[in-house]
Amino acid sequence: MTQSSLCVEASLRDFYITPSSLRKAFRDKQLIPYIQPIVESHSKCVVGGEVLLRWLHPDFGYISPELFIPYVEKSSAINEITDYIFEYVGNSLKSHSDTLPRKMKFCFNISPKNLNNKNLLRSCAKFLETLDDIEPLIVLEITERDKIPDLGSFELVIKALQNNKVQISLDDFGTGYSNYYYIEIFNPDYLKIDKFFVNGIGEKINSQYIIKSIVSLARDVGCLTIAEGVEYAHQYSYLCHENIDYMQGYLFSQPMMINSFASLIIDRN
Ligand code: C2E
Ligand code: CA
Ligand code: CA
Ligand code: CA
Repeated sequence: MTQSSLCVEASLRDFYITPSSLRKAFRDKQLIPYIQPIVESHSKCVVGGEVLLRWLHPDFGYISPELFIPYVEKSSAINEITDYIFEYVGNSLKSHSDTLPRKMKFCFNISPKNLNNKNLLRSCAKFLETLDDIEPLIVLEITERDKIPDLGSFELVIKALQNNKVQISLDDFGTGYSNYYYIEIFNPDYLKIDKFFVNGIGEKINSQYIIKSIVSLARDVGCLTIAEGVEYAHQYSYLCHENIDYMQGYLFSQPMMINSFASLIIDRN
């Protein structure tokens, strides 16, 4: 996508991203889950992927989730859309279950609002059941844009999820509201290092110190680390040197349709 089309989309957002345009997009199947491969750092083997939603608009082309997800999160539609994403991805992967390796990690972005809804447990259980041949792992990436009023009430849901073999990752760790407090509340399995810090490697004075400190914290609290937004070889080398466990970014692959992901796995691994 060109820079100018992004600007056009940004300036049109208030006209086109409304509750009713989103509902229509959903009904017309314009919201498509893509997946971006996640690699094990040293071997570069694809171990899974992050599911990223795309709005493929018939008139305006691709609309970034950065523009429309915040709107969705403000409404109850976020629950419906999250359920749909699990079902879509589960069914799409099912048709490739003969060729996909076992125990792959599938990461889903979850808004804290989803944690107040029983459907999430049901969606996770259904996903695992649909793909039981390949024994997938679900990783919920907790995305946080607004402050959560009462985190304590999520503890039961999180425990239930974790008992059902669903893992938790703190997304964008160290930015916004994703902070130390969340480690206590969510007892996560992964800390995900935001592309903002990865971008700063060799560019900004403090990014490398911040990454080092996240890695050391992750080790102490028993979390694995994932770095996102890895675009350049020098970032990859630095992150390998710091023993980051998993990486994701354009250096390895763009987000893609699920069928393409399945073909890539066969070619790459
Ligand atoms: P995120 O969870 O931080 O996702 C990472 C973003 O970085 C994605 O943007 C991804 O396409 C992009 N990215 C991946 N590799 C690179 C790279 O090497 N360089 C650069 N510059 N960018 C890279 P995307 O797909 O536009 O998603 C934006 C945000 O929208 C996500 O940020 C996530 O917070 C949210 N989002 C996407 N899908 C969903 C969803 O299904 N549910 C919820 N609740 N949020 C979603
Ligand atoms: Ca994410
Ligand atoms: Ca995020
Ligand atoms: Ca991020």
